Amino acid sequence: MNAIDPKIMTPTQEIVRLSEATANRIAAGEVVERPASAVKELVENAIDAGARQIDVSIADGGKTVIRVRDDGCGIPPEDMALALERHATSKLVGDDLVNISQYGFRGEALPAIASVSRFSMTSRAAGGDAWQIKADCGSTGTPRPIAHALGTTIDVRDLFHATPARLKFMRSDRAELQAVGDVVRRLAMARHQTGFTLADVSDGQDRTLFRAEAETGDLFDARRARACRILGRDFAENTVRIAAERDDIGLEGHVGLPTWTRGTAAAQYLFVNGRPVRDKLLIGALRAAFSDVLSRDRHPVAVLFLTCPPARVDVNVHPAKSDVRFRDPGHVRGLIVSAIRHALAGAGHRPTSTITTAALGAFSQSPQSPESKRAWQSQPMHSYRPARRDVDIAVALQEPADADPFGQGGFADSTPGWTSARADESPATDPVPGEEAHPLGAARAQLHETYIVAQTSDGIVLVDQHAAHERLVYERLKAQRDRHGVVRQSLLIPEIVDLGTDAPRVLEHTDALAALGLGIEPFGPGAVAVRDIPAVLGNPDPQRLLRDVADEIVDLGTSGALGERIDAILSRMACHGSVRSGRRLSGAEMDALLREMEATP
Ligand code: ADP
Ligand code: MG
Repeated sequence: MNAIDPKIMTPTQEIVRLSEATANRIAAGEVVERPASAVKELVENAIDAGARQIDVSIADGGKTVIRVRDDGCGIPPEDMALALERHATSKLVGDDLVNISQYGFRGEALPAIASVSRFSMTSRAAGGDAWQIKADCGSTGTPRPIAHALGTTIDVRDLFHATPARLKFMRSDRAELQAVGDVVRRLAMARHQTGFTLADVSDGQDRTLFRAEAETGDLFDARRARACRILGRDFAENTVRIAAERDDIGLEGHVGLPTWTRGTAAAQYLFVNGRPVRDKLLIGALRAAFSDVLSRDRHPVAVLFLTCPPARVDVNVHPAKSDVRFRDPGHVRGLIVSAIRHALAGAGHRPTSTITTAALGAFSQSPQSPESKRAWQSQPMHSYRPARRDVDIAVALQEPADADPFGQGGFADSTPGWTSARADESPATDPVPGEEAHPLGAARAQLHETYIVAQTSDGIVLVDQHAAHERLVYERLKAQRDRHGVVRQSLLIPEIVDLGTDAPRVLEHTDALAALGLGIEPFGPGAVAVRDIPAVLGNPDPQRLLRDVADEIVDLGTSGALGERIDAILSRMACHGSVRSGRRLSGAEMDALLREMEATP
């Protein structure tokens, strides 16, 4: 039986071809979703026209005015009407959809935008006069002479006024303005040779929101200068350079240090052959590259340019062209992950400039500013007292050197500065030595039984002792696994853990878990006996350890192979073998932790 209502199937009208205006308006839904997508298309056109300077003005988040002015090649009057027709483009050479080197090629943007707005295009090409053509909701006029410098200005008023349904989906002016800003910054990042401005002209004002001068000089410096312009001065100091090549795919750019992260992915600028993309594969690769050094809720900063032969990537997946499809995704992912991990490993323990500067700034703001700052810089921690009573800082005083068994650590004797804790000695000219060898400095205090404060020659380092130790245990587990399997330690009495319905799922992975040092076997319905645990964990609670590992396995779903999850499982385990926060550490213990951190990748 057919469930479709026969009335719907019976055509009540003859089939007619859509008018050009209607077809354009339908297409507009795909190409221009919101003001920001119109801005993207217009700025891309300006770049394709070879502009050296592009000025964008918008009012009311782009809903009432979008104006993009460029000094590019311009459009001669005889081509103006054609440019507003669908599928008319000057950018495809023949029918080659593979070697696409310009942003545009579909010939869709101008007609789409013109079909849903009050549109005007003013342009002057070299050797000619300036002309203007207007269109109102798709009905195009004829070009008229007008005054204009070399280049083109596109003026879009009342976007979507002809499609009220779409207008309803616009978000607040603020949200739209933010999206426009994002588009301009991304294209500005891609084209450092071009100058950009973005101005808000709402209510007759003219407020510059963004300005980037054209950058000159060699590619690397110019790109970095542009990145600093967009992401802030800190960018240069807090990023590492990426430059890698595999076969015919190149990767170039910068990623932020793991200590310089963001709460969202907004500071990730990814480009494929110069085109800004938001591609799942690339974003996933970036995340994977940072998975060992970032918690899940933090996002790395990245500006990465991937280049490959056009034949290896399809940009024609979607009209907005922000998705791409690679012929060999695994290859691309591998290149990104390994290049970034390499660069981060090479950066070692370079601390973030912003954090150290801010921390020192915070101390210098205390009431006795100059003195206390000097005291901070030149004195060992035990002579420093918080200036204000209400500052609740529990400073765990380091024992004076002679009462401390530092000698065992092996640092005290070779590097005298480490133990400059005697109050009667003047350590004023006694910076922390061995900065090269000990970038994390000398432990000076423990705060709240949670943070270790270390002094370096020109800064301070704060270490979360639990997180740090957990990380060390994790790296040890990984190293053992890679060498000969994680060293196990048998429990005197096996621990019975009730996992309920999760038990079979966990037991499926008995062999894989054994290689990770976790020996389990079935123990009646729903229960599992834990026989061995990884030795480096010390004395963890086997109940909680297995429960956590089980959660991680259940997260995998039914089909997954444990292989992909091994690092996550090791990381869960590491958590159980770590110094908890809230434990008081001696100076020697703190220093030992710092030294081990330095020695660990
Ligand atoms: P596409 O960019 O895909 O070719 P568009 O509809 O965006 O399609 O533009 C149509 C044509 O109009 C372009 O191919 C180009 O020749 C011309 N054009 C559009 N904007 C400009 C501009 N700012 N400067 C010079 N020519 C332009
Ligand atoms: Mg275009």
